[in-house]
Amino acid sequence: MKLILLGPPGAGKGVQAARLEDERGMIQLSTGEMLRAAVAEGSEIGKLAEGIMAHGELVPDGIVVGVISARISQPDCANGFTLDGFPRTLAQAEALDRVLEDTGVSLDAVIELKVDDAALLDRILTRAAESPCGPRADDNEEALKKRLQVYHAQTAPVAAYYNAQGILRSVDGMADIEGVAKQIADIIDEKRT
Ligand code: ADP
Repeated sequence: MKLILLGPPGAGKGVQAARLEDERGMIQLSTGEMLRAAVAEGSEIGKLAEGIMAHGELVPDGIVVGVISARISQPDCANGFTLDGFPRTLAQAEALDRVLEDTGVSLDAVIELKVDDAALLDRILTRAAESPCGPRADDNEEALKKRLQVYHAQTAPVAAYYNAQGILRSVDGMADIEGVAKQIADIIDEKRT
């Protein structure tokens, strides 16, 4: 099963992608996590991404496309994956189509988690307060405002792109974690039969 999870910051993509990895062995491919690892390592990509991420802006397409295409072609992804936080722009979606075409892989579904903007600030501030490793550099009110603006301007068109391909599904991301997981599982099981 090859999935994309779309949704605004704080929608719960990471939580659901981690569950899909535990429960179904679908590899979680989170560009946010990969970039945070690069920042922690102090690599060239990390140095470039650090300030951009802290301000809630997008890392350039060429960089994230390079990172994801190297990872998605590893053998462990052949049995299934969930893209979490990628693609975030139309150019990234188009680049992903080319990478998948080259490797002969097709997506099974793109699932959009729908959550009201008003709920997101609460969720992000709760995550920041509860994180055992301290808050992420971008989990504060100012960066979140920017991340939401960027989401509506650049990532919402990605949903329309997949809708036009006929593979977009939406779930109610305002439900609790179990409720969202159930809706996603229903879509996956429907695709498998
Ligand atoms: P969230 O979905 O909660 O905003 P992520 O961990 O997915 O968090 O992303 C954190 C930050 O990493 C983004 O705000 C952005 O700066 C950078 N980032 C992650 N994925 C991408 C991407 N596909 N394209 C550009 N920047 C990205």
